[in-house]
Amino acid sequence: MPEGIFCNKKPIETEEALKAFMGDTSGAQYYKEMQSLDVDSDLLWKTIQNTCKSRIRTWLEICAHCGMCAESCFLYLVNDRDPKQVPAYKIQSTLGEIVKRKGKVDNEFMRMAMETAWAKCTCCNRCGLYCPHGIDMGVMFGYLRGLLYQQGFVPWEMKIGAGMHRVYRAQMDVTEEEFVETFQWMAEEYEEEYVGLTVPVDVENADILYTVNAREVKHYPEDLAEAAILFHAAGENWTIPSKGWELTSLAMFAGDWAACKMQVESVYDAMERLKPKRMVGTECGHAHRATVIEGPYWAGRKDGQTPVPSIHYIEWLAEALREGKLKIDPEKRIKQPVTLQDSCNYVRNHGLREVAREILSYIVEPGYFRDMSPNKEHNFCCGGGGGFNGIGLFRHQRNKGLMTKRDQILKTGAKLVIAPCHNCWDAIRDLEEEYEIGIKWSFLKPLILSMLVVPDHMKPEE
Ligand code: SF4
Ligand code: SF4
Ligand code: SF4
Repeated sequence: MPEGIFCNKKPIETEEALKAFMGDTSGAQYYKEMQSLDVDSDLLWKTIQNTCKSRIRTWLEICAHCGMCAESCFLYLVNDRDPKQVPAYKIQSTLGEIVKRKGKVDNEFMRMAMETAWAKCTCCNRCGLYCPHGIDMGVMFGYLRGLLYQQGFVPWEMKIGAGMHRVYRAQMDVTEEEFVETFQWMAEEYEEEYVGLTVPVDVENADILYTVNAREVKHYPEDLAEAAILFHAAGENWTIPSKGWELTSLAMFAGDWAACKMQVESVYDAMERLKPKRMVGTECGHAHRATVIEGPYWAGRKDGQTPVPSIHYIEWLAEALREGKLKIDPEKRIKQPVTLQDSCNYVRNHGLREVAREILSYIVEPGYFRDMSPNKEHNFCCGGGGGFNGIGLFRHQRNKGLMTKRDQILKTGAKLVIAPCHNCWDAIRDLEEEYEIGIKWSFLKPLILSMLVVPDHMKPEE
C-alpha cells in the first residue's frame, strides 16, 4: 500500500499535522495503516551504506555468539531467560538481517524489528559492559531505530515526540512564552516565602544557564520553583534562556536524527547567544545524554563538546553542598531506609557514579542509605528507559520490565527511592502503581529544599 494518512515516511512538521495525528486516539488508525506500509528497500540500503559506520559493521561481524551478554540484560532476565531476549540475538535478527539482505526486508519484518527495537531494548547500554568485545546493543539499537523511523515503522508516541521537537523545539507543546511565564509565575508564588526570588531571563554572561525538561513546565511546575529557590539560596548568578531551554530529546528515542540535530542546536544557540560560564541541566538522564554527550556529534561539533561546559544537576548540587553554598539542617536529614536509582544515562554512560552518593552523605543520616545490588555503572535500567515508559502499544512488556527494579528495591528494604532522572522517576512511580510495594520516590530538589538552612536574606521580615 502507498503511504498511510498517519503512518508514512514523512516526519510531522507542523502544529496542524501534530494535532491531527494526536486526534487518532492511541494511534488506532496509525497502527492499522502500518500493517500494509511499504518498505523502501533502495532507500534503506542506501542509508545503511551512507551511515552505517565501521564500528557498527565490525560489531555485527565480530559477535562470537557466546551469549555472555545474556545475563546482563534485565529484559532477558524478566522474560524467563527467553533466548530471543539475548542482546546479541535481538540485534542480529533485526539490524544484522537488514544489512545481510541489503535492505530487502518486508513489512512484517519491519514490524517485528520495531517491536524488538522499542520493546526489547531500552538502550541502557548495560550489555556493552559485559561483552568481551565491548559490543553495545544500546548503540546499535539507537542506530536501528533511525532506520525504522525513516521507513515509518515507529511507535505512535515516538513519532509525536519527534514531531513536538520539530514544531516546538520541546518534547511537549510548550511555547517559549509559556515556558518563561510558567517559570516566572512559579517564582511569584514563592517570593513571599523566599525574599528576593526572581527568575532572570536571557541575562548575558551569567555563571549558570539553566535548562529543563518540558514536562516540568507542563506537569511539574513546582520543580521550576525549587530550582529557582535553590539557585537563589546558593547565591548563584543564573539565568534561563527564553529560546533553547529544552534539554530533552524524544527525537533521540524515536530515531529521528534530523530532529535530534535541530533540538540540540536550539540549546547550543542559546549558549552562544548568552555566553554563560556553564550550563546546568535539570534532573534528567536521557536529556543529559542527548544534549551533553551525544548532541555535540549530532550538531557536527568536531571537538565533541557543548559550546560551554555543561553539567548535570547532581554535579551542581554536590558542588553547592561541598562549597557550603547550600547548607543542610542535620536535624532534618533523612532518617529512614533510603536507596538511590543510578541513571544509566549519566552514571554508566558518563561516569557520575560518586556524585549522587556525595549528595546523600549530606542529606541522609549515617546508616540509613541502602545501595541497590548491583549498583553504580552496573545498575539495571529502571525498566522504562529509551521511550519504553511512554509507548501504549508495549505497556504490557514495559510493566514486566519493571520487575527487575521492583526486586532490587525490595531487597534494600528502603521505603524511599531517590531518582534524579525523569524517566527513572516515572518508571519507579509506575512500578509502585503496578506492584504496590509501599515505596515513595523523589527527585533531589524537593528533598534538599525540605532540609535547607534558608539564608537570612531570604527570610521574610515577620
Ligand atoms: S557477549 Fe558480545 S560477543 Fe558474546 S554474544 Fe553477546 S554481543 Fe556477541
Ligand atoms: S542495551 Fe540494555 S536493554 Fe538493550 S539489550 Fe543491552 S542490556 Fe538489554
Ligand atoms: S530511564 Fe533511567 S534507568 Fe532507564 S535507561 Fe534511562 S536512565 Fe537508565
